[in-house]
Amino acid sequence: MKYVYDFGEGRRELKDLLGGKGANLAEMTRLGLPVPPGFTITTEACREYLASGAEPPALRDEVSAHLDALERRMGRKLGRGADPLLVSVRSGAKFSMPGMMDTVLNIGLTDDSVTALAAQAGDERFAWDSYRRLIQMFGRTVLGIGGDLFEDRLEEARRLAGVATDVELTAGELRRLTEDFKDIVRERTGRGFPQDPREQLDLAVRAVFDSWNGDRARLYRRQERIPHDLGTAVSVCAMVFGNLGPDSGTGVAFTRDPATGHQGVYGDYLPNAQGEDVVAGIRNTVPLAELARLDRHSYDELLRIMEILENHYRDLCDIEFTIERGTLWMLQTRVGKRTAAAAFRIAAQLVDQGLIDEREALRRVTGGQLATLMFPRFDAGAAAGHLATGIAASPGAAVGAAVFDSATAVARAAAGERVVLVRRETNPDDLDGMLAAQGVLTARGGKTSHAAVVARGMGKTCVCGAEELRVDAARRELTTADGTVVTEGEVLSLDGTTGRVYRGEVPVVPSAVMEYFEGTAPPDADDLVAAVHRIMGYADAARRLGVRANADTALDAARARRFGATGVGLCRTEHMFLGERRELVERLILAGADDEERRAVLDALLPLQRADFRELFLAMDGLPVTVRLLDPPLHEFLPDLTELSVRVALERNEADVRLLAAVRRLHEQNPMLGLRGVRLGLVVPGLFAMQVRAIAEAASERRLAGGDPLPEIMIPLVGTVQELELVRDEAEAVVAEVERARGVRLAIPLGTMIELPRAALTAGQIAESADFFSFGTNDLTQTVWGFSRDDVEASFFAAYLEKGIFGVSPFETIDADGVGSLVRAAAAAGRATRPDLKLGVCGEHGGDPESVHFFHAAGLDYVSCSPFRIPVARLEAGRAAA
Ligand code: ADP
Ligand code: MG
Ligand code: MG
Repeated sequence: MKYVYDFGEGRRELKDLLGGKGANLAEMTRLGLPVPPGFTITTEACREYLASGAEPPALRDEVSAHLDALERRMGRKLGRGADPLLVSVRSGAKFSMPGMMDTVLNIGLTDDSVTALAAQAGDERFAWDSYRRLIQMFGRTVLGIGGDLFEDRLEEARRLAGVATDVELTAGELRRLTEDFKDIVRERTGRGFPQDPREQLDLAVRAVFDSWNGDRARLYRRQERIPHDLGTAVSVCAMVFGNLGPDSGTGVAFTRDPATGHQGVYGDYLPNAQGEDVVAGIRNTVPLAELARLDRHSYDELLRIMEILENHYRDLCDIEFTIERGTLWMLQTRVGKRTAAAAFRIAAQLVDQGLIDEREALRRVTGGQLATLMFPRFDAGAAAGHLATGIAASPGAAVGAAVFDSATAVARAAAGERVVLVRRETNPDDLDGMLAAQGVLTARGGKTSHAAVVARGMGKTCVCGAEELRVDAARRELTTADGTVVTEGEVLSLDGTTGRVYRGEVPVVPSAVMEYFEGTAPPDADDLVAAVHRIMGYADAARRLGVRANADTALDAARARRFGATGVGLCRTEHMFLGERRELVERLILAGADDEERRAVLDALLPLQRADFRELFLAMDGLPVTVRLLDPPLHEFLPDLTELSVRVALERNEADVRLLAAVRRLHEQNPMLGLRGVRLGLVVPGLFAMQVRAIAEAASERRLAGGDPLPEIMIPLVGTVQELELVRDEAEAVVAEVERARGVRLAIPLGTMIELPRAALTAGQIAESADFFSFGTNDLTQTVWGFSRDDVEASFFAAYLEKGIFGVSPFETIDADGVGSLVRAAAAAGRATRPDLKLGVCGEHGGDPESVHFFHAAGLDYVSCSPFRIPVARLEAGRAAA
């Protein structure tokens, strides 16, 4: 077993073994770029250490051998001699992970070597500054001493010296500070700061290993579903110094603008500083372009290297570099994070440059990124009055009057006002307020807090965890860090895409990408729209899955068609019984055993339904439209039991008394599992027949008018093939009768939803009577998990997410192991019975990126989702096939 790789031995592909940082340091070394020499201890060594509680016995010798080689190559010894070698110890797992141990710089400095370093560098201040940094970093991250002990002492030193910043401290002051830091170490650990350089190194390596199991790291892995058994690698890298005077410095650079994707020189540079200073924001950086003036040679060299890296990685790279007395050193690179807009532009540019092909371009963007580009956003130029920044929990732009409790939110919204609900944190009692508000702002909680989870589910803009805000619900006000007070009624603007909160109304600009999908902006409206247009084209060419829409009205269907839907996968008919028609349904229910009355009501409903379908078939002419027969429990069409009881008690109106009896009769404890779906069709005579007739007659009329209607009839909540057979017999008779009467051939497929475990388990039998299956993964998730969606999402899901029981709600992304395995099995059983069985999915999951990949792999024919998610589904279906 080999535990240590020299930078010259590794390569990019060894990420599993060397971690991202180590693998890329090796790759840059292999490319001949100027990387300070060093070596990487593998994740394998970490795994063995974590399993047994001790370093593998061979590790020490291997580290010694690599350290010897490093010392020989540098002609210097770790922490010894006139020109002591110093190293950094850097953690780096396969996936970059917040919560892991920080890097320790300047390992090798001791009471002896600090003097040698001062003499060698000709700079006493630099040497003491480096030593106090080592003790501070080592004390905090390796010895586990609270960081504020050091910070407080540092602040005191600044106060005593009468200066504002660390850089103004003199060599003597830093030397005294170092002694103070050593005292802290002695007090806290019972022994002095380690004076053996090798012991420093070994302790730091072990601390990196241990940090893999830190609480924050574990929580992060649970949430991101990163396995706990990967372990981290540790890179040991010879120090180079950016803090050796004005001809030294440190910086970060990007090969393209990660905000826009445009080509150019982007980055920040900080003269006379060590790496961590840039991130810590201790002093103001200068734009990278300034380096051209300060050090032309290093600048040209950096640009040359950036070009090599881009061509090699064929992607945007970000880079950490340091210049030591005019010599450029590369300290890190990786494929860089980018905004959604940048991702699309860069992918399109790289295709143009011939660096990647169309399929690779699809892998470079995500549906989530596309979704953010479809939201309206604030006009950045016009945004003033920045109040605070929180976590961007649910995208969008919300403007409204600040309110501090749900009741006020509901009342003001009912009066027609736009409001933003501001809470310290939300709980299930805030649901009404969240629904009524344009957006939600909280001071506490992360991406999986109640507010974040519920807002995302509602598609509502949310900024959470804006910790600099103090929210006082009793006084109906919030206070910012600088003491600004915002009281109830003042207008706030929330940017759910960036997490920024503004005072006052920020103008909202519509999304050009959305206008393109709507057909109101041309495909070349701007360079971003052009990039999206091209990549959507690649996706459509690559995908195997069809994408249909969940659309109940002709208006929705028309929009879905513009967005690229190739059919309606779910037309819910219950919405067609609301409004004025509710009264008819009420009569239908009250009819009970009165056949005459029931027939009269159904006769009245028929022409209304027929007109609905005619319009829908017109909007979707030439494309399939799956109509689901009535699904929800009947009592949803009746008045509320309590309200009605009160009214009856007060007024004793004869009609109300009858109605109350019906409401009582139909009242169910668990309506979701009660009289609904196919059960309704089987116990309310004539109901399904009326709907089937409306579909068949509407189709005939469209056909006779020269159209091409393609209806499909779908039966909900089937649990056994017998149910389906009964409905099928009835439906076929009705269709045949309409065909005869109108003189047309319709050939309407009849299929079923698979949304109960029993249906999935007996899919082979059900397929004998079904022309298609459509997986209703919302109900299937409810019934497989035993979750009542309307209840659990608001009550305990946030806690489950926080505990990492699942990383994402199973209603958002399909639970591949549980619900998904039923889908796969039912698909296979159905096709075994009927090889040409058409398979689709019509739950919310149809528009969720990860779920779309699952359905592609499961071999379904299409997904169906709400119109606005169609572009995302098209893109992800393409990515799944690429
Ligand atoms: P992170 O993962 O937090 O970026 P790094 O290991 O990259 O941690 O190191 C933190 C900072 O220290 C970076 O700015 C890096 O450039 C700098 N740094 C790391 N190793 C060295 C080194 N050998 N010489 C000089 N600076 C270094
Ligand atoms: Mg780094
Ligand atoms: Mg259902």
